[in-house]
Amino acid sequence: MIQIDALPAFSDNYLWLLQDVNRRECAVVDPGDAAPVEQWLQAHPGWKLTDILVTHHHADHVGGVARLKSETGARVLGPSSEKIPARDVALNDGDHVEVLGLGFEVIHVPGHTLGHIAYFHADANQPLLFCGDTLFAAGCGRLFEGTPAQMYDSLSRLAALPDPTQVYCAHEYTLSNLRFACAVEPENPDVRARFEEVTRWREQGKISLPSSIGLERATNPFLRVSEISVKKIADERSGQETRAPEEVFATIRRWKDQF
Ligand code: ZN
Ligand code: FE
Repeated sequence: MIQIDALPAFSDNYLWLLQDVNRRECAVVDPGDAAPVEQWLQAHPGWKLTDILVTHHHADHVGGVARLKSETGARVLGPSSEKIPARDVALNDGDHVEVLGLGFEVIHVPGHTLGHIAYFHADANQPLLFCGDTLFAAGCGRLFEGTPAQMYDSLSRLAALPDPTQVYCAHEYTLSNLRFACAVEPENPDVRARFEEVTRWREQGKISLPSSIGLERATNPFLRVSEISVKKIADERSGQETRAPEEVFATIRRWKDQF
């Protein structure tokens, strides 16, 4: 039985803490800061941090890795093609790893950074996805290193995962993403309903995650670039006829950068 909690860090990061309640072992995803994990371990005596999963090299995702590794001896897993502090296991697309007894498939998702990876646990009841800064709730990461076509391909692979897959991304950006989603698809009732729901949650100080692949397919404009309505507004923005979905994606991503 695995329990997953968010440890907030910085202004809007979440460090995901996976807990095997029976074995009293835990793993953390993208610890940009060691302190929240140290505090959790102090408050839970007898627990052991066994694994640190890293999605990409940005400081808000790796800043606490070296310290946690030296304090706990946890195994550090991360993408093979990026510089990850204290990495023990270098991962490539298609690799399989076991963490807390759960099997994860590694999916290479270039775009935000070139080596970015996501961790997918296929499970009939509760599939899990840890996707860092690639797929956000109602949005996607900025293109710091990759091309729009790369990010479009990466998001398409994630969108093809089963609808019930729980999506654990690394930032609380959902409300501002939904404001943009409303601008892209003003007529989409699912987007409007989610905007109102997340507005309420955030007013109550509640976290908006995890999301699910099914919900993202219905409300995330970056997964909906093949919809006629999204193509139409992209054409209006760019002043030209966009043909391929990756061109629509590029236009929408540029728009969001200035939104
Ligand atoms: Zn990042
Ligand atoms: Fe980040």
